[in-house]
Amino acid sequence: MARCKHEAVRLRPPSLRVDDGGALLKELAGELCRVGRDAGLDDVGIAPAQPFLSTRAHLEERKAAGLHGGMHFTYGDPGRATDPGRAVPGARSLVVGVRSYRRADPEAPPGYRHGPWARVARYSWADHYAPLRQALGVVRDRLVALGWAARVLADDNALVDREAAYRAGLGWYGKNTLLLAPGRGSWFVIGSVVTDAPLPGARRPLGDGCGSCARCLPACPTGALIAPGVLDARRCLAWLLEAPGAFPPEYRVSLGDRLYGCDDCQEACPPNRAADRHRPPPAPEAGDEPWIDVVGLLALDDEALMGRVGRWYVPRRQARFVRRNALVVLGNTGDGADARVQACLREALADRDPLIRAHAVWAAARLGRHDLLRPMLPTEGDDEVRTELNDALAPA
Ligand code: SF4
Repeated sequence: MARCKHEAVRLRPPSLRVDDGGALLKELAGELCRVGRDAGLDDVGIAPAQPFLSTRAHLEERKAAGLHGGMHFTYGDPGRATDPGRAVPGARSLVVGVRSYRRADPEAPPGYRHGPWARVARYSWADHYAPLRQALGVVRDRLVALGWAARVLADDNALVDREAAYRAGLGWYGKNTLLLAPGRGSWFVIGSVVTDAPLPGARRPLGDGCGSCARCLPACPTGALIAPGVLDARRCLAWLLEAPGAFPPEYRVSLGDRLYGCDDCQEACPPNRAADRHRPPPAPEAGDEPWIDVVGLLALDDEALMGRVGRWYVPRRQARFVRRNALVVLGNTGDGADARVQACLREALADRDPLIRAHAVWAAARLGRHDLLRPMLPTEGDDEVRTELNDALAPA
């Protein structure tokens, strides 16, 4: 059978052959960690690339129980996401890097005059994956220059990145399902370089660092953390903001002013606070967007809106889902007497898209603007919008 031409020309310097013993590979592992840190990673570790069998079992069990709530990502193909060998044939090691996105708290939004304001979760204030991939790319390039196969995986569903970091000894699993790193907390993004180089890891997986603390569980506004380490995605606001379809009515009030993501189970976490005291976070950077003007966002056309929030995960890249979320936030934070808010509601109530009309009905009713809804009753033809209208106009 013909072999891949790239494999045929691959050079493996004699000095790094596996049968030369571990010293040179150990030296290379140390060098790669240094290269990663120099390129901007906050910590780097190495894990064996054996399939994550326990993780695969968890994903499959939770999916079978419905706890994934329709989430695809690594649930889409657990077999692939837990086998580094599917990304790089013959994979032997993972070089795993983390990069902090923690920033100091932003100033409050600049007054109500231009509001209402929606909040964005910290990991989405800016694109933190681009610099992570860039830094991992430097590690990959070093491996490839030495003749090894190597591929960067970060946030692309091809690998459960938390498990890779856990196996590399970079952190332990918190009860909120996130990885916590000693002295750093959980405010970081994770990515890996999968390689066929048999690199030795210097660290062992960490034991539980949470102890008896379980503050994240009651901190969740929707009770989505149903047991330590078990998330019911059907209730998690962060997922519901990314999920297709209508925003579930029972969680709309709980959504509050969150437009994208939710930080509550991280905010409540004592190791995160201790990490801030130990190492005060830097100020927000130019371009960070912790707050977004809801009315201004709803006024944008599809192209401008997706250009503004293109770094977010939005189902099928359709701006209507961001508008859906923004209308729920508007209902929770707007003032029904504000002329900007009224104009925004009127426009959304007349939108061609029933998803937008349905959420505008909810927002108008929550802001006490039932007067805007009554004229719709005789003409509204969409069943879901009519249901929202009937609920909104039903006697209390
Ligand atoms: Fe709950 Fe928010 Fe954490 Fe989801 S992200 S589990 S909604 S606190």
